[in-house]
Amino acid sequence: MTTIIAIDGPAAAGKGTLARRLAAELGFDYLDTGLIYRAVGMKLARAGADPADPDRAGQAARDLRPDDLGADDLRSDQAAQAASKVAAIPAVRAALLDFQRRFAAHPPGGKGAVLDGRDIGTVVCPDAPIKLFVTASLEKRAARRLKELLDRGLPAIQEAVLADMRERDERDSNRSVAPLAAASDAFLLDSSDLDADQAFAAAFDHVRSRS
Ligand code: C5P
Repeated sequence: MTTIIAIDGPAAAGKGTLARRLAAELGFDYLDTGLIYRAVGMKLARAGADPADPDRAGQAARDLRPDDLGADDLRSDQAAQAASKVAAIPAVRAALLDFQRRFAAHPPGGKGAVLDGRDIGTVVCPDAPIKLFVTASLEKRAARRLKELLDRGLPAIQEAVLADMRERDERDSNRSVAPLAAASDAFLLDSSDLDADQAFAAAFDHVRSRS
């Protein structure tokens, strides 16, 4: 039996860094599920199509290939916005569910899997023995995102980053299918006043207490 660690939370709460580090520490495989939605969203955006178009987005999700996850434009804000639009479409979520569950049940290394996203503990892997919900205030998350963009040499304005993040939070939290929510049995980790090392220490303590 492989162990599954499910990590959910809003954008820029620090879950990707945490998930990657937990996976490395434990020798587990890591799946960034946001990347899958970004890849579907960008397939439409690149073709000049509306990511909110249910038929085209559903088809793009069914046609998704592992190679699509390597595209170099998936970390952009355009990709983030397109992802949260396709992610609200039930046919897209249904098409991507199998892929995520297969990875969780049969991670390449065979030891365990860490998945991060918005609905891992609630929908994708509701039986995961270890669940974390990582959050932080909107202002702290926007500030982290702004710093990340500036560090990458990309032009960014604080007000615009904050507005984009608020818009994405609302869309992710209020959609009718698999909205962003903490599972009732998730360990809540507020990273607002923690640096990456402190967040990792708190998460790792929890994982050890459950293993
Ligand atoms: O985590 P990331 O910011 O890369 O996710 C991009 C978007 O993909 C999110 O805003 C959300 O709309 C969607 N997503 C989702 N379910 C997941 C992972 C991501 O709906 N499990």
